[in-house]
Amino acid sequence: MAALERLRSALIGVPVALPEDLAASFPELTEARYRRGGLPPRVGGWALGVGSVAGITLWRTVFLAPDVPFSAELLLHELAHVRQFGESRAFPARYVLESVRVGYRRNRFEVAAQRFAALRLREAGSSSPSSGT
Ligand SMILES: [Zn+2]
Repeated sequence: MAALERLRSALIGVPVALPEDLAASFPELTEARYRRGGLPPRVGGWALGVGSVAGITLWRTVFLAPDVPFSAELLLHELAHVRQFGESRAFPARYVLESVRVGYRRNRFEVAAQRFAALRLREAGSSSPSSGT
């Protein structure tokens, strides 16, 4: 059983809980499930020519690379992808086609996810009187 568990975590990582402070600041992050490690971040990395991506989303599950800390910006970005998966069953194919056509950085789904995360962080910052600059 131990070997099977090791194989399983090597393939699909292990479930991790969303840190409470992030869930309190950004309740929408509870829409996703989180796992750490496994093949998806590596496969995402191979597609981009790097060893691993910080995070990759497959349907409702966000896979985080083993050594990447939780950050609001990263998780909000991945949450946008969770919602993109929810909006259309064709999303995975559209995402790949878009990446092939215009590249990862200019992929409209990536641009939308970055905008969503930036906007949400700005909203949170402006509503928090204790935030500095
Ligand atoms: Zn993304």
